[in-house]
Amino acid sequence: MKISILTLFPEMFDGLFSHSILKQSQQKGVVSYNVVNFRHYAKDKHNRVDDYPYGGGGGMVLTPQPLFDAVEDLQGQTANKQKSRTILLCPQGEPYSQQKAEELAKEDEIILICGHYEGYDERIREHLIDEEISIGDYVLTGGEIGAMVIADSVTRLLPGSLGNDQSAVTDSHSTGLLEYPHYTRPAEYRGMAVPDILLSGHHKNIDVWRRQQSLRRTYERRPDMLESANLTDEDIAYLHSLKSKNK
Ligand code: SAM
Repeated sequence: MKISILTLFPEMFDGLFSHSILKQSQQKGVVSYNVVNFRHYAKDKHNRVDDYPYGGGGGMVLTPQPLFDAVEDLQGQTANKQKSRTILLCPQGEPYSQQKAEELAKEDEIILICGHYEGYDERIREHLIDEEISIGDYVLTGGEIGAMVIADSVTRLLPGSLGNDQSAVTDSHSTGLLEYPHYTRPAEYRGMAVPDILLSGHHKNIDVWRRQQSLRRTYERRPDMLESANLTDEDIAYLHSLKSKNK
């Protein structure tokens, strides 16, 4: 997969892409990152990419020309039959989620546009992009941190990215539930013991315990998620028992 990022601050991505899973994923050829400064596409003689808003008011607005040219150039580089999806980072966009990350991980290429200043000329939103994504109900200085969130969460879903592909499958939100608790050595630390079941070696019972812990955590912290989770009859019976204990 190719993840292209259009930004005015390409250096911000150096740290993210040169460490840990994201670095290894590039080395293994699972993903390639293409960080492009769209100022290079500005035709203005001072390389300006922003201008004052029509109608007055504070803040500068990104002009259409550099971004249209940059996106069209990237789309032109996309290999035959491959499709790219162009996404604008924007606090007004669809809230980002694990489901969206899973959807994007199936694409050949995504192009992430990072805004800055007051925002974009509306024609970018209306005529250049496929969709808008927000990483949360707050306003950031620029789209770079949002693009990092998407690049990171999508990369770890690509086959071959994580050492053990199963880890992404059981992650919180991938299953529709929050993940169960983890323990490692030592079996006892400062009088705090690891639950006996995890030391039992009985994998079937461990799976049942983990599923129940996952349900309990979701019930306690994010009961809203249970409404759309895929639950078995056993899950529902366990949740009923939790609810009656809490009455
Ligand atoms: N005036 C804009 C508004 O009210 O919608 C906010 C502009 S913000 C200061 C500058 C840029 O940061 C945005 O164009 C967008 O690219 C990025 N940004 C800010 N908050 C974001 C969020 N929650 N999710 C994704 N991108 C965000």
